[in-house]
Amino acid sequence: MGVIHARKALLPGGWADDVLVLPDAAGAIASVEAGVPAPPGLEQVGLLLPGVPDVHSHAFQRAMAGLAEQLPEGEASFWTWRGVMYAFAGRMTPETVRAIATQLYVEMLEAGYTTVGEFHYLHHRADGRPHDDPAAMALAHLEAAREAGIGITMLPSLYMAGGFGAPPDPGQRRFLHDLDAYFRLVTRLQAETAGRPDERVGIAPHSLRAVPPEALRSATDNWRSLDPQGPIHLHLAEQVREVRECMEATGRRPGELLLDLVEIDERWTLIHATHLDDAELLALAGRGAVAGLCPTTEGNLGDGLFRLPDWLEAAGRIAIGTDSHVVIDPCEELRWLEYGQRTHTLRRTVAASATAPHTGARLFKAVLEGGRQSMGRPIGRIEPGSRADLVVLDHDHPRLTTRDGDALLDSLVLAPGRDLVRHVMVGGVWQVRDGRHRRHDQAAHDYRNAVRELVA
Ligand SMILES: [Zn+2]
Repeated sequence: MGVIHARKALLPGGWADDVLVLPDAAGAIASVEAGVPAPPGLEQVGLLLPGVPDVHSHAFQRAMAGLAEQLPEGEASFWTWRGVMYAFAGRMTPETVRAIATQLYVEMLEAGYTTVGEFHYLHHRADGRPHDDPAAMALAHLEAAREAGIGITMLPSLYMAGGFGAPPDPGQRRFLHDLDAYFRLVTRLQAETAGRPDERVGIAPHSLRAVPPEALRSATDNWRSLDPQGPIHLHLAEQVREVRECMEATGRRPGELLLDLVEIDERWTLIHATHLDDAELLALAGRGAVAGLCPTTEGNLGDGLFRLPDWLEAAGRIAIGTDSHVVIDPCEELRWLEYGQRTHTLRRTVAASATAPHTGARLFKAVLEGGRQSMGRPIGRIEPGSRADLVVLDHDHPRLTTRDGDALLDSLVLAPGRDLVRHVMVGGVWQVRDGRHRRHDQAAHDYRNAVRELVA
């Protein structure tokens, strides 16, 4: 099943030539051998890379990408965008969410993402009543992931408040749980995903504005007893207004408050982490947390610029997510991450360093490792024991002509040209061949019907 011989493959130690990769029957990599000729009769592929983890997705937002770009009344901000998003979210059903998520995951696979971190908060009906099966919306995402064949870390979100010390507003009714109901959902999802190596469950307290301090403590304590190594994701300090409101309510900045409340460690992924001061940045990077960066969404929403040079200098770990899905392309995400910094600092090669002098290579390798940690699954590496989540690039593509080693990754991330992704495998099974997902047409058909229904 799925034996591959590649002219070049990106292994944990760097590029290797003539690499034979054997997946086992359960979809993990059984062996990796470099410097061996292609066995007779086996198709040889060009360039083999680990699939990229997309650690932050709100799948339903795929269907509203582009719909919040008109001049609103008053000032256009994150908060006016959120109003459009809430109105859109209000119409979602398990069926429409499943169709939208399937299309999204197909698009992710065709772009070279092989795992999604689904940060899911659209739990209930529009009026706030649970569905007949309270897990229906979460299960719709899991079914979509299985249909598309993408790995998934399911991150049901805990949402309890409308702001620091504020009750939820009507647009948030669909998101709400008390802790007991929340952990019933979490344990249900653990049962649904048990024994499936391409799936895992984490918890996702939405943000410090949506989860009161005591509840955050209880949730993380309870989670440790359920899964001591389980991932924890949280939106942190995305907006300046959020930082201001946190300080007014608690006397502390969001990062400070988080560090005071809970033990931050490698289980944590801090989504955005945009507005950190020096002390917060050093402390959070030092605890081994991953910064879950979503550069194109952060640009689209006017969030601000993550302190990438300082975070990398502090040995901070990073991963990328597509979040609101205005772009679904890992290379473009990394390009924006770097170019935002260049525009701001008036320097070039911002992410590069003396020990990692290739900008694109450093970013690409960093998000494979950070994604592996953030998703809590053995992915992002071509080595025995890791999942056989693999991407084959077109080695003849003009974007990569004459490129080798880390210069190849630089050109992959920072040079022009589309359609490099040829084949994509998840858990030892080909999902994309010759640039097209096996469900490409059906997923697009179902998606169009779902979106027509939503806007009707
Ligand atoms: Zn988000």
